[in-house]
Amino acid sequence: LSARFSLRRVAIGLAFTMILVLAVGFGVDARAVIDNPPLLIAPMTLMVSITMFQTVLMRSDVKYRAEAKLDPLTQMLNRNALGHRAAELEHQATVLGEPVAVIVGDVDRFKRINDDHGHADGDAALRALADALRNALRAFDLVYRTGGEEFVVLLPGASEGHAVEVAEKLRAAVAGRACGGHPVTMSFGVAASEAHGFDYNAVFAQADRALYQAKSSGRDRVCSPGSRAHARAA
Ligand code: GH3
Ligand code: MG
Ligand code: MG
Repeated sequence: LSARFSLRRVAIGLAFTMILVLAVGFGVDARAVIDNPPLLIAPMTLMVSITMFQTVLMRSDVKYRAEAKLDPLTQMLNRNALGHRAAELEHQATVLGEPVAVIVGDVDRFKRINDDHGHADGDAALRALADALRNALRAFDLVYRTGGEEFVVLLPGASEGHAVEVAEKLRAAVAGRACGGHPVTMSFGVAASEAHGFDYNAVFAQADRALYQAKSSGRDRVCSPGSRAHARAA
């Protein structure tokens, strides 16, 4: 019960079990219970104790598991969670034969916010940015905070073109608002795997190179291997 339900439901479950113990005890041999009450008191006490200890342990387990996967500042999933999800998607992509896209986003000139307005304002800006990114994505497209002001989005089933559209939406969502009271912009690098297999490290490296291109070509923009090839041709 404590693994699955709220405290109230655990209490209801315990009460229900107690009623069952009483009903069975008195139903089977009421005389024996009256003559020797510990026959029921002992198992009932044991059950209450087990429930109390189990609930406390289970709660702390759930809390530590959440902390292992969540970034405390933004409540976004962290690098640990990204590693697990990437491994899952590598298997899934092989089975389903679908591409997987990776978007890497980095806040532009974020150090200036810290330097000019202090670390607390920088933290507030990061929290506001996290909200803006989450709100711009569909509920099942997850965004991870992988470093200080760096974020990664994994898009199963998305081609490079589709992922560029999503990244453009994220860029516009951030650029259009003052995060934590200060205007910020973000640059994004995008890459996608072929349909027949996803190697997270390889796709991430491509997206990271595209991010570098976005930074060096002026920031507040989205770049991808496709757009780099286009730029080279131009
Ligand atoms: P660029 O456009 O090239 O990315 O410039 P930048 O200033 O964003 O890049 P740089 O990597 O030099 O600076 C990142 C800064 O992010 C440095 C660090 O002070 C800040 N930072 C990292 N994590 C946190 C955090 O949790 N809170 C705050 N307030 N600042 C952070
Ligand atoms: Mg950075
Ligand atoms: Mg930066």
